[in-house]
Amino acid sequence: MGLEQYKAKRDFHKTTEPAGKERAGEEGIFVVQEHHASHLHYDFRLALDGVLKSWAVPKGIPEEPKVKRLAVQTEDHPLDYADFEGTIPKGEYGAGEVDIWDKGSFQLQERSPDKLVFELMGDRLKGPYALVRFKGKEKEAKNWLIMRL
Ligand code: MN
Repeated sequence: MGLEQYKAKRDFHKTTEPAGKERAGEEGIFVVQEHHASHLHYDFRLALDGVLKSWAVPKGIPEEPKVKRLAVQTEDHPLDYADFEGTIPKGEYGAGEVDIWDKGSFQLQERSPDKLVFELMGDRLKGPYALVRFKGKEKEAKNWLIMRL
């Protein structure tokens, strides 16, 4: 996906979010950002392919085994975004407060276009997780489920 969508949505003269760039070699971190935008959600991001692969999880990352939550894939973010906290100004994309809810490392165990299995080692989230893309129509391609295994 790359960072084109990320950059197209933001005015870096107005937001303090990082412009960032793709870079390799810093994989293995994850972050969850609590984002008080028009609707509260939790942004789950995994460092893969030189970017942060990103999903918005409206109800938060499950901590109990077998609980599944909707995770809507969003644009790739730069790796620098893993440190971002602050307030995105009114009128800008994603306006509202962003706080780091959890951060740590992960170990990728399985990867295919429609499924990721990984172990999270965060302060709050620990253990095996999976992200699985919804099967079916093209319009649902952004919809995944995140679950604690
Ligand atoms: Mn968000």
